[in-house]
Amino acid sequence: MALFSRKRRPMHLGSFPMEKIRRVDKPTTLITDNVRQVPKRAGFFVRAFYGDIGERAGDEIKRFITKNPLNAALGRIHWRQVPLHRGKPAPGKAPIPDDPVKLTEHIKALCHFLDADMVGICEMPDYAWFSHDMEGEPITTRHKYAVVVVIDQGFDTFEGSSGDDWISGAQSYRAYLKGSTITTTVADYIRRLGYEAQSHSNADGDVLQIPLMLLAGLGELSRIGELILNPFLGPRHKTAVITTDLPLVPDKPIDFNLQNFCDTCMKCARECPAQAIPYGDKVLYNGYEIWKPDVGKCVTYRVTNQKGSACGRCMKMCPWNKEGLMHHRLAMWLAIKWKWTHKPLIWLDDALGYGIRNPIKRWWLDLERIGDEVVAPPAGSNEGDLHLDRGKQRTRRPLAVYPPERHPAGDEKKTVPLDRRQGLVDAEIAARDLKALKETLKPNKNAP
Ligand code: SF4
Ligand code: SF4
Repeated sequence: MALFSRKRRPMHLGSFPMEKIRRVDKPTTLITDNVRQVPKRAGFFVRAFYGDIGERAGDEIKRFITKNPLNAALGRIHWRQVPLHRGKPAPGKAPIPDDPVKLTEHIKALCHFLDADMVGICEMPDYAWFSHDMEGEPITTRHKYAVVVVIDQGFDTFEGSSGDDWISGAQSYRAYLKGSTITTTVADYIRRLGYEAQSHSNADGDVLQIPLMLLAGLGELSRIGELILNPFLGPRHKTAVITTDLPLVPDKPIDFNLQNFCDTCMKCARECPAQAIPYGDKVLYNGYEIWKPDVGKCVTYRVTNQKGSACGRCMKMCPWNKEGLMHHRLAMWLAIKWKWTHKPLIWLDDALGYGIRNPIKRWWLDLERIGDEVVAPPAGSNEGDLHLDRGKQRTRRPLAVYPPERHPAGDEKKTVPLDRRQGLVDAEIAARDLKALKETLKPNKNAP
């Protein structure tokens, strides 16, 4: 970040020059008018709790957060913030500026003051609210704006890690805790000014954060599928959100050529230990044009991983997961500006060995909590580096898609087993649906 002067940089812009990335009116991902709201019960970690993903995942999810002692310590503070997420606004309005531009700059600067890495704002689409809460009750809150806070998961630790070893869970929970500390504080502050506000974190939230990050201009949808990739952090981040009625100015989505980059690059698909990321094309899923991962495979691996506490290997291996060095920054701007650079840059990333672990950065202890005891993990630790020879032979492996019409109902308390066979059929339908939609969107050459 030393490339430009911080002295002249206003606080609301933060450290990363996001204002230099091209803004567009619509996201680079097609979102149709047919996006359905989903209940929290449909989330795959929740489904694991209900036994939908099988007995083993159902057992392992109960110790998922506390499986590693550092993860457990971070998780405990994170979850204790949940009661502070909501509250009533002060009865009177505080004497604050009535200009939404000034208020926007103020809220963004506050988030940076509290150590957010990036902040973006969008209007809340209805579909981004969950339909039902964990008790199965309809969610009726409708704030106008979402303030999306992005937290870097930390480059150096990813350097030392395989992505699915014993630090992987704590990498996520460190960012979740930082994010929720910021959004919970800011939501409380806004309520004290007399406006509605609610914090939404990984521990408890009423909104889907992925579309909000996209709409708030903080990244593009990547091949990893359910992950928005940011030009400066790559996929290495977590988000937390404040929804509010405080008058704000939304940001526009961005386009930094990622759709072409991910079309060419398959590194995350190749390196995913569960082989859950598609090598193939996008599909139409719940009204979105998306590279859809096999979420059943991904969550099963993360929850039942015996040689690590979670998994974020797709984030670790992505060529956009870089930091600091001048030639990395140069490569990033080349990729943003010129699509023709994508192929050589992707080739170079492997050729230079990016993705292998850096032992100097390995600072944590391999520890597992079994029952009440913390022990050296009996199964050891995942030590994977690059799998250059993997990939091509696996490209035909089918991935299942689980569309919202087959999700459990919002108030379903019984086990609803994941139907993988149907998921494979639904994957073919989703691919066909996108092709059909694209046909209808083609300009009619015969039109007068
Ligand atoms: S989190 Fe792990 S298992 Fe899931 S898609 Fe990424 S690499 Fe694959
Ligand atoms: S690894 Fe490659 S394909 Fe996967 S998200 Fe990163 S750039 Fe896209």
